[in-house]
This record gives sequence, C-alpha cells and structure tokens, in this order.
Amino acid sequence: MQVKATVLQKDEVAPQVHKIRFFAPRIAKSAQPGQFVHIKCGEEQNYILRRPFSIHQANSSDSIEILFKVVGRGTSWLAKLKVKDSVDIIGPLGNGFSLKSRPGKIMLVAGGMGIAPLIFLADKLAKEHTKTYTVIGAANKELLLDYMNLKRLTRKITAATEDGSQGVKGLITDILPAAITEDHPDVIFACGPFSMLREVAFIARREDVDCQVALEELMACGVGACLACVVKTKTGFKRVCADGPVFDSREIEW
Ligand SMILES: Cc1cc2nc3c(=O)[nH]c(=O)nc-3n(C[C@H](O)[C@H](O)[C@H](O)COP(=O)(O)OP(=O)(O)OC[C@H]3O[C@@H](n4cnc5c(N)ncnc54)[C@H](O)[C@@H]3O)c2cc1C
Repeated sequence: MQVKATVLQKDEVAPQVHKIRFFAPRIAKSAQPGQFVHIKCGEEQNYILRRPFSIHQANSSDSIEILFKVVGRGTSWLAKLKVKDSVDIIGPLGNGFSLKSRPGKIMLVAGGMGIAPLIFLADKLAKEHTKTYTVIGAANKELLLDYMNLKRLTRKITAATEDGSQGVKGLITDILPAAITEDHPDVIFACGPFSMLREVAFIARREDVDCQVALEELMACGVGACLACVVKTKTGFKRVCADGPVFDSREIEW
C-alpha cells in the first residue's frame, strides 16, 4: 500500500546513521520482520526511483522505524527530514524471515547496517520467549548499532570490531564459528554486506545450521516488475524485491 507518512521522531544515532519513526498505521499493522518499505526521496523529477529500507521496528498500532546510513542523494534527503514532514512510502514489501518451523534457539548475525531488519525480529522473538543469541560486527564501537536494544532483547551478544574498540578485533565471520559451537543455534538469521553473507552461508553449511539471509541488492521498482535486483539461485534467477529479500542461504548461488 502507498501512504503519506508523517515523521514522528528523527535521531542521528551514530555518525551519518539516522533512525526515523513514521506515523504509518496501515503499514505497521501488517509489517513482518525482514520486509521493507520503498520510500520516495525528494520532490523533484530527478528522484524518480524510490529507495528501499528494511523495517527496523513496527509498533502494530501506529508507527514504523527505519535505520539508515547516508550514502548518496536519497539518504542525504532523508537525513534532512524534520518532525511533522510528510513522506510517500510504499510497503510493507517482500517476504520476511520464515519462522514456520518454530526453532528452539536462534542466532542473529548482524554486520554493520545489517542490524536494520534484525531488531524487529529480535523484538518479536523476545515477545514469544524464544532463546535468541546475537553475533554483531562493525568497523568500530560507535557503529555497533542498537547494542543496548540487543542486550535487552537477546540472551547474549558476541561482538567483533575491525579496530578492536569493542569485543574481539576482527570480522564478524572470525567469531561466528566459535559462537555457533558455544550456543548451538537451530537457525541463523543474517543481514549485512553480500560478501559477509556469503561467508556466513558457508560457515552455516559447514556447521550444519539452517540459515536465512536478508539481501540488500540494488533495486528499482521494488515490486517485481523491472528485474533490476535479480540474484542467481539454485532454481534460476530470483527477484530480491518480490521473491526475497530473505532467502534460504542454501538457495543462493554465491
Ligand atoms: C531490501 C533492501 C533493504 C535495505 N535496507 C536498508 C536499511 O535498512 N538501511 C540502510 O542504510 N540501507 C538499506 N538498504 C540500502 C539502501 O537502499 C541504499 O543505501 C539507498 O538506496 C541508497 O540511496 P542513495 O540515493 O542515498 O544513494 P545512491 O546515490 O543511489 O547511491 C550511493 C551509493 O550507495 C550504493 N547503493 C545504492 N543502493 C544500494 C543498495 N541497495 N545496496 C548497497 N549499496 C547501495 C551505490 O552503489 C552508491 O555507491 C536496503 C536495500 C535493500 C534492497
């Protein structure tokens, strides 16, 4: 559905990383973790393409949140929004994380901005009393986003930073194998850069753990029509926007 959503709150939570809460009751009511919204950034004609953002949090009665990093024109425009501004949003779009088989233990693996769709999932899992463990990685301590929220929502957090300012010095994929050995998850839900997800998928297969990945490919229409966001899978090309963005990691031809 397409709605005009009003900005309720906007915070810069880390350098160049913003969180915006929109009043969007119709989207909030049906949103599922892993789904995304497609936002019209800017008023002028040269902002033709919408920009996709994971639903970071949804309060079922009225609002949704996005968490984003400023990387170009669209996100710079979003970063300048003020409370009470109105924005054109389509959503919720795509297929979110599948919780059909009711796993006993879940591991969330968040690389950098990959935390964006995982807080909504962690919140849902906490409400269902599912045992959830988090492995998080970022360039530095400041970019370990939503750390306090994760502490509240999940049983244990294992962190890695590239500069060693918090947790183990190194990449998230350096600490993941030991975390799997220690916490024995039944399934991993991961989001982050493509190269990280490829490594996470490899580790999950080696350790024989089911794994779902939320992909963030460049996309245009967002509703499955233009085929700009296809990925190669074991059963042919699939559209990240309409068939994903969440896929079983074994399905992807990495
Ligand atoms: C399903 C989905 C969910 C996403 N969720 C989030 C989120 O929750 N938070 C967040 O910060 N970002 C998210 N992204 C990425 C976000 O859509 C892009 O960062 C945004 O579109 C960039 O727009 P821009 O106009 O600022 O940058 P542009 O001017 O379009 O591009 C600037 C730079 O960003 C790169 N870029 C653009 N789009 C993407 C993309 N989709 N993935 C990777 N690099 C890109 C370009 O290659 C270029 O280097 C998501 C993408 C997808 C497909």
